[in-house]
Amino acid sequence: MTPRAVLLLVLDGISDRPCPELGGKTPLQTASTPVLDRLAAEGICGIMDTIGPGIRPGSDTSHLSLLGYPPEKYYTGRGPLEAEGCGIHMEIGMIGFRGNYATAAPDKTIIDRRAGRIHQTGELSAAIQDGVDLSAFDVTFNFRSGAGHRAALALKGEGLGAQVSSNDPKKEGVMPPRIRPCTRKKTDKKTADVCNEFIRQSGEILERHPVNRERKKRGEPLANIILLRGAGEMGHFESFKERYGLQGSVIAAATLIIGIGKVVGLAHRNVPGSTGSIDSNLEGKIAASLDELNAREFVLTNIKGGDEAAHDRNPEEKKRFIERIDGVLTPLLERDDFLLVICADHSTPCSIGDHSADPVPLLIHGEGVRVDRVTRFDEISCAEGGLHRIRGISLMPILLDLINKAHKYGA
Ligand code: ZN
Ligand code: ZN
Repeated sequence: MTPRAVLLLVLDGISDRPCPELGGKTPLQTASTPVLDRLAAEGICGIMDTIGPGIRPGSDTSHLSLLGYPPEKYYTGRGPLEAEGCGIHMEIGMIGFRGNYATAAPDKTIIDRRAGRIHQTGELSAAIQDGVDLSAFDVTFNFRSGAGHRAALALKGEGLGAQVSSNDPKKEGVMPPRIRPCTRKKTDKKTADVCNEFIRQSGEILERHPVNRERKKRGEPLANIILLRGAGEMGHFESFKERYGLQGSVIAAATLIIGIGKVVGLAHRNVPGSTGSIDSNLEGKIAASLDELNAREFVLTNIKGGDEAAHDRNPEEKKRFIERIDGVLTPLLERDDFLLVICADHSTPCSIGDHSADPVPLLIHGEGVRVDRVTRFDEISCAEGGLHRIRGISLMPILLDLINKAHKYGA
């Protein structure tokens, strides 16, 4: 029977380069992964340049590419995607920013860029939404909290540009710069002016807010300034349903990935205990993925912890996390009505602590795939698989073909 649905399981940053700490092997090569290996043995494998050979992907651009939306056409910056992920509905032309709550000293120098990693900023964000007035610019706005110290801002109004700088000084002990237009266009000047006024007014509201009075009493860093960055203008995204005829959902902890899912029309399924870190509720994410597949034809599930361990340059922890992932995948073996796709969105070598352009391993498991001779899921074994080396943008066409939803080209 042809599978009726697709589960795209993205193990964020899971692939790597040889690690001296692991005897010259990668975390995927050294981890004990009986379930991933069985899936590789029963499926077809390959490696993939999620954007293109030699291009170091961000998680945002790579996920767009994997979903079949070429980032060079659709990507306008992280801001609009983060804003959508924080629950702001982005209309075409709105300008989105990602934001941070931070701590400024009385002389305005930034002393903590994350405000002591404050949690629960909902009350502060609501006070900013109620209190800041940008009507002098004929601009309305939406400001929402994200996870932890994070937040997002969206501006709506005539004549706004997105080419503006950030007020994040990127280090502590210095004054935040003013937001500046990056071009001589009036539209960018207007956005910069609006942002500086937003930062000024929100700072005043935060300074006198009861939450900060309490934090002061307890000796905790105040959340008294908003740092904005990642400006981008929301563009038009043809929905997943229009593009492929598939109803889908997204399961992820990172607001960026949730935002990408939402802009292409995937419904967000929240999973309690899903943190985007190595302590995440992985069992819950897999159970929710299987549940979503009952009602929908496409599910994108992102598991982030491996990328985090690699950014921390910790190959042992990355290896342990891979083994934890493998341990929760068993329920996927019990169903045969969907195509299971497992890959990374980019490699994150522990040796560099950041993303690299090394291609990622890929496996497709399910009825109808041509089973190759690969029996292990890792960077080296998958390179010998039947899919050979593909680009991320080719993944959706291949999957649509395997579920019999591809249109014939020609007669
Ligand atoms: Zn990523
Ligand atoms: Zn990363």
